Amino acid sequence: MPAFFMKVLASEGFAPHVESCVECGTEDDLVSFDPAAGGVLCGLHRRGRSVKSGSIDAIGDILGGRLRVALEVDDVSVIHEVDQLAIELMEYHLERRIRSVRVVE
Ligand SMILES: [Zn+2]
Repeated sequence: MPAFFMKVLASEGFAPHVESCVECGTEDDLVSFDPAAGGVLCGLHRRGRSVKSGSIDAIGDILGGRLRVALEVDDVSVIHEVDQLAIELMEYHLERRIRSVRVVE
């Protein structure tokens, strides 16, 4: 399910950036995720919700075409978190889209 959401978002051009901090580009110490910022953030730029590095890796696998690797994750807390992140992302983008349709009308 989260893999499906992520793929849909990616196909719409809303793939979250998970390789490095969206603020400074560091690949180390990635600790949080903010849908409004478009991806993950480091300890210094922390915003949004805290995330496990396993979840960041799993999302990277999903978006990077390594779905099989992502599906092998057996850490329940990571699976649950990726679920939550996918739903939050989807809600964030849907809500923005609905608002912009309302503005046009
Ligand atoms: Zn940063």
